[in-house]
Amino acid sequence: MNFFRMRYGIWFFSWGIALFVSCKEIDTKAKSLDYQTAKPNLLYIFPDQLRNAAIGINGEDPVYTPNLNQLAKEGILLSHAIASFPLCSPSRAMLMTGKVPYNNSVLSNANSRRFKFNNSWQRDDISFSDVLVNNGYDAGYVGKLHLTSPPPIAGKDSVIWDAYTPKEDRHGFNFWYSYGTFDEHNNPHYWVNDAKENELTYVDEWSPKHEADVIIDYIKNQKNTLRNNQKPFALFWSVNPPHPPYQYVPEKYLEPYKDKTLDELLVRKNVNLETDAEELRFHNGATRGRANLAKEQVRNYFAMVRGVDEQIGRVLKALKEQGLNENTIVVISSDHGEMMGSHGLMSKNIWFEESVNVPFILRWPVKIQGGQKSDILLSTPDIMPTLLNMMGAVDGMPRDIDGQDLSEQLLTGKGKKPEFALYYFIEEGRPESGHRGIRTAKNTYVVTIDDEDQIRKFLYDNVNDPYQKTNLVGMNFKIEQKLHHELLKALKEKKDPWLKYYSSLEAVAIKK
Ligand code: CA
Repeated sequence: MNFFRMRYGIWFFSWGIALFVSCKEIDTKAKSLDYQTAKPNLLYIFPDQLRNAAIGINGEDPVYTPNLNQLAKEGILLSHAIASFPLCSPSRAMLMTGKVPYNNSVLSNANSRRFKFNNSWQRDDISFSDVLVNNGYDAGYVGKLHLTSPPPIAGKDSVIWDAYTPKEDRHGFNFWYSYGTFDEHNNPHYWVNDAKENELTYVDEWSPKHEADVIIDYIKNQKNTLRNNQKPFALFWSVNPPHPPYQYVPEKYLEPYKDKTLDELLVRKNVNLETDAEELRFHNGATRGRANLAKEQVRNYFAMVRGVDEQIGRVLKALKEQGLNENTIVVISSDHGEMMGSHGLMSKNIWFEESVNVPFILRWPVKIQGGQKSDILLSTPDIMPTLLNMMGAVDGMPRDIDGQDLSEQLLTGKGKKPEFALYYFIEEGRPESGHRGIRTAKNTYVVTIDDEDQIRKFLYDNVNDPYQKTNLVGMNFKIEQKLHHELLKALKEKKDPWLKYYSSLEAVAIKK
């Protein structure tokens, strides 16, 4: 009897193991099948003012970004992602609407002075998050928004930057932990979900650390109250650092930079801290006369980059721990870069690479093989249609967007790649004003119109002169003509009001 029981015991035990193993296999196969059909999550992270050179794996700035480097190794790393209008609100509005500035009303940075120009994210513009929600997504927004120009206060001249965004202007985002513009990085504040305008949440912590905690909770969603676990999620995280004021950074992140000399930190060959960049005086967007600030700010900027990388690393770890790594698209980008003394300038809002070339890292383990690099020219308005198509979330996508879908090119490496990215600078309230430019694989070519209607042209050979030290206008007529023609053709196709204005000025110049 004992023998009988033992024999059958072993028999059942073996079958039990076999069954367990095969169930496991089925489970794994089912999971991978799920991944083929299930809609992916999206985690779109865009630290403010993070230039592409400040991603360690690119081997340019002396920065420490181990988490971003690892992400790039596991995904695809773009070298030529271009912030089409390298300024906060216009760049963010292009990301959200897929439209160029004169088609989405955000021509300049949002603040109370521009309330009269309606310089805000338009309720009627069906946006990135509206389409996501329409396709069954749970959508969340954490951090800085800067897309609303608040009304001025009667009798007060001071410019108001921060703004409350009422629910009806949140374009479907149902998890909301955000503010307009507020740069006290050590004492941030937020409007959380249902909070009314006078119900701010004040926090006594470095904003990237605090927001990472919020997002880790969102990812874990332990009580099932932060998002709907039955739906895929799309979370946008707009980290304010590495945006000024640069001194608001935890001391611990400064360690690697403390003893480095300026020459070891400001390694770009176009850094010039002594010039006033007089030749750019005509450009209202250029931050001139402050390049000497780079001496004290560069350490803090890189420290911020290090701190932001660490906080992103914590979020990515949580994603992995929750088993969401495989089918979540993680993107790292920025709204624009930072000049940090290059060409004698600080800040952004100019056509130079330090300002327009932003990071773009995309990881999606089930669909994209790691370790890839691409030099595709991705412009800001392309991001929305590209990601939505990649995610198969296209129901209700507006037909009048300006960006193009580059998902096939990124997923397969095949398909026609864009030949250029456009560059914009526009004055408040005047869609026809400012600069237009074109960034091809080889050149940057820009035509500017200043306040006195004077036209200037700038041409750089980015391959032979990567630091754009020599303006080649007047030196190579053939290339100049070709780029000029390409620029005007592209603007004509996009019905840019600048073109008519520019043509009228040219006609006057010819008559003279
Ligand atoms: Ca910005």
